[in-house]
Amino acid sequence: MNERDSQHLLAELQEKERYTLTSNPKEADLILINTCSVREKPERKLFSEIGQFAREKKQGAKIGICGCTASHLGEEIIKKSPDVDFVLGARNTSKITQVLHTPKAVEVDINYDDSSYVFASGQTMGIKALLNISIGCDKKCSYCIVPFTRGQEISIPQDLLLNEARKLAQNGVKELLLLGQNVNNYGVRFSAPHPKVNFTQLLRSLSQIDGIERLRFTSPHPLHMNDAFLEEFANNPKICKSIHMPLQSGSSKVLKAMKRGYSKEWYLQRIEKLHFFLQKAGISDVGIGTDIIVGFPEESDEDFEETLDVVKQIGFDTLYSFIYSPRPHTSAYNIDNSKLVDSKVAKERLERLQTLHRSQLSMRSKNEIGKIMEVLIENFRDDGKESWSEGRSGTNRLIKILGHKRKIGEILKVRITDTQGGSLFGEVL
Ligand code: SF4
Repeated sequence: MNERDSQHLLAELQEKERYTLTSNPKEADLILINTCSVREKPERKLFSEIGQFAREKKQGAKIGICGCTASHLGEEIIKKSPDVDFVLGARNTSKITQVLHTPKAVEVDINYDDSSYVFASGQTMGIKALLNISIGCDKKCSYCIVPFTRGQEISIPQDLLLNEARKLAQNGVKELLLLGQNVNNYGVRFSAPHPKVNFTQLLRSLSQIDGIERLRFTSPHPLHMNDAFLEEFANNPKICKSIHMPLQSGSSKVLKAMKRGYSKEWYLQRIEKLHFFLQKAGISDVGIGTDIIVGFPEESDEDFEETLDVVKQIGFDTLYSFIYSPRPHTSAYNIDNSKLVDSKVAKERLERLQTLHRSQLSMRSKNEIGKIMEVLIENFRDDGKESWSEGRSGTNRLIKILGHKRKIGEILKVRITDTQGGSLFGEVL
């Protein structure tokens, strides 16, 4: 989501203010730090980064702080760091050209609605593009600061999305990654009257656009994984067979305390249903990803074992795992300190979880040998010793084809011949 916001910021500045991009802070006229506040550590790093850029920047250059920490800390950022010229919250990205010309501007209104704003399209087009389909989040997971930094959930009107997707396809984009805090809750609220449409219908409409060969999305919420959605996922050939299903914990007790709205049983049942529809559609391979938080307050050894149990049962392809980080505004933030999990215990749990996942992944990689996958070529690389084309399968595995220089954007049938760590190697059929 932040990456997409950065693209919007850049596109607006390029098109409306004639800025160009530099990665050298010493020659920049404007330095933007786009921040995350999901965990505490990056937020702490912000002020040292501001200090560093303030020392490096050329005279007269501006510093702007954007994103979720901007929403969260607002004016406090300028009070603490007078070198900052403006603060622009995550929900206010479309105001970038406005704050640029307003000394010490602070625009952090989380009720601001730019869901119908048409951002400049930017100058860098590749074969893959990000597309925001909604802003904000209505859930109140007890550990999560996002609803307090990105506000209420509002879907972006379908006609804007289809127009944008058509434009992207005309510019050579083949794969779209749809973004939202809860993508599969799409269509629940629009800021103006709008024909009824849900995520499944949106996927269907997007997949009818000529030139768009692949659709991915992140993140769906397990709670909204109804049968119609899972059936569309399985049957629509343009939807990549990789899905991110944030578990957070395998213990129903902890899930309840996290206010996730589903139980371990519901989650496993949804996965079972997913496999059912895939099997019915004759598809044997799917990549499943997840997020897990360990050390949530009062997570017992038994609760953690339940998380390991789900991980063992499902065999996730990707796993983003973190130790619980208390965030202000959230309901879990007020939990009594005595209920927090000891940091050493939390670290051990994280280590065990990641070790399990690594071993599952390497086993899974070995099982991929001999399989035939469709790979969208994204890059050509040469390290001086070897050259290779690389791209991703529908299941989101990175595949290298040694000695081949293929056209970027080609979709090729590739037989997997070898694995090294998490990487797969293949040959073109
Ligand atoms: S669904 Fe929960 S975890 Fe995800 S953004 Fe919303 S509040 Fe945060």
